[in-house]
Amino acid sequence: MEKVIDEKVQGTALVKEAKEGNSKRLFIESYGCQMNFSDSEIVASILANEGYNTTNQLEDADLVLVNTCSIREKAEQTVRKRLEKYNAVKQQNPKMKVGVLGCMAERLKEKFLEEEKIVDLVVGPDAYKDLPNLINEVEEGRNAVNVILSKEETYGDISPVRLQSNGVSAFVSITRGCDNMCTFCVVPFTRGRERSRDPQSILQEVNELWEKGFKEITLLGQNVDSYLWYGGGLKKDFAKASKMAQATAVNFAQLLDMVAEAQPKMRIRFSTSNPQDMTMDVIETMAKHHNICNYIHLPVQSGSDRILKKMNRLHTREEYFEMIDNIKKLIPDCGISHDMIAGFPTETEEDHQDTLSLMEYVKYDFGFMFAYSERPGTMAGRKFEDDVPEKVKKRRLTEIIELQQKHALYRTQQQVGKTVEVLIEKSSKRSDAHWAGRNSQNTMVIFPKENYKVGDYVMVKVEDCTSATLFGEAVDYSPMNA
Ligand code: SF4
Repeated sequence: MEKVIDEKVQGTALVKEAKEGNSKRLFIESYGCQMNFSDSEIVASILANEGYNTTNQLEDADLVLVNTCSIREKAEQTVRKRLEKYNAVKQQNPKMKVGVLGCMAERLKEKFLEEEKIVDLVVGPDAYKDLPNLINEVEEGRNAVNVILSKEETYGDISPVRLQSNGVSAFVSITRGCDNMCTFCVVPFTRGRERSRDPQSILQEVNELWEKGFKEITLLGQNVDSYLWYGGGLKKDFAKASKMAQATAVNFAQLLDMVAEAQPKMRIRFSTSNPQDMTMDVIETMAKHHNICNYIHLPVQSGSDRILKKMNRLHTREEYFEMIDNIKKLIPDCGISHDMIAGFPTETEEDHQDTLSLMEYVKYDFGFMFAYSERPGTMAGRKFEDDVPEKVKKRRLTEIIELQQKHALYRTQQQVGKTVEVLIEKSSKRSDAHWAGRNSQNTMVIFPKENYKVGDYVMVKVEDCTSATLFGEAVDYSPMNA
């Protein structure tokens, strides 16, 4: 694979990998969570061995793939709009083939072909290795579908092709699927049962990324805290495993320790955590290693015990506070973000006030906040009437967002006057004379470029801030840069 400049965005070159001799062009775009963006890099790798290099020119593509999200109705509408766009382009390029990947493909299955005539192939998140066969079927004039969910597949043997990468940060997936069955969530139905990837293949990918000059990785999973490797197989079958397998199993804290030790100059992040599965040894491991970032994305979804129960979130608001207290005790400056849903079925004003008071207790750095969107096939979609009026949902969501912005500013103001370690990722959006990069807490920091370059770790004295960004002056290189 050779590295080529894909395009320049805000003065910063985005690199992609291309295979010499490949003549077919793949246009692939992704929607939704980081897992989807990481999966698209696996798909690009599988198809690179079939003669495809990626292009970001839709008009030039022989094959167009869209990696879809199904988490909210709006996400699916976005995909349908893109398919209309492809349809217009296909008028000029009739040979172009179109495929849908990801969670919406898994949710709709064959129905996608009936609903969207432009679609030639439908492939679920666990069937990407079957793409070469499915494309052959399409080239022979048949539509093709594979939406079988797997008990083993982790794509651990596939070396992802980095797409639109800044050459500094990369995703490394460590688990697939989820067993948690939160009543509002489609993921367990679209991504199947939880299984973990072999730690040796994770370490190999991390070492390869270091060799390629990457400086930061994010370990990815729908629920990283329940990572558990015991030789392959589903998390839920661990109890049936042999004594030896149980004794030599690797859990998330141990994996974090292994990766941090293997590449001490590589920054490590992880996402997404789950309060009901997070354990103290993860926080202790974070505190032990300077290169594991002081940042946790810890979705809570609601502050009301009654609603948490209805969501099948297996923790109370008190247990969540205890987790937050433990984190702040061991890592006082830890950045914390959340996911929150406004207007879940039967949510009262009192439940909403519980959400606001929980946010007041934690004072998150930032959050992803949405109004409840009923999803077909989920327990809530089947059993609970979506009874909170849209107007009330919107008003509650606005209150949550406004409170979050107040807390975000409170958190960034706490960093003014401090010197923070920043990994340079790109030029600032607003000024080509300034670098942009994130500190350990995952907050964006902007400072004058001087002689520093992309990929450098720099100590920056913070002088000012907004609720989302810190502004400062470089002081010196960080010891991590050596
Ligand atoms: S933990 Fe819950 S919300 Fe998260 S992916 Fe699993 S089922 Fe969905």
